[in-house]
Amino acid sequence: MAKCPACAQDVATPFFLNADAWRWLVCPHCAARLERKNPRSAATLMPLFIVLIAVGGQGHRYALAAEALMVAIAVVILVEFMRPQLQLRKPLPKPEITLNINGSSN
Ligand SMILES: [Zn+2]
Repeated sequence: MAKCPACAQDVATPFFLNADAWRWLVCPHCAARLERKNPRSAATLMPLFIVLIAVGGQGHRYALAAEALMVAIAVVILVEFMRPQLQLRKPLPKPEITLNINGSSN
């Protein structure tokens, strides 16, 4: 279950691997077209995951610590996938960074 960002009502979300169901997800209350927010944790924790694999090769003690951290990271990523956040589907994605081409000086 997730909240619709348009009408704040509960929306039943498909299983996180069901990409086709996600593509056609529409709020049953207000008919807003919805999509899943990209989980931030997966993008930020993946590099750390790779570092931990390298650290794990340094010795038995490091391997145990790295393994515990890797399990924790995997759980965080899994929870984010199982509890998705919804956002309104936009016709065109807006760039997050806008370039100031004119270069106005303060
Ligand atoms: Zn809605």
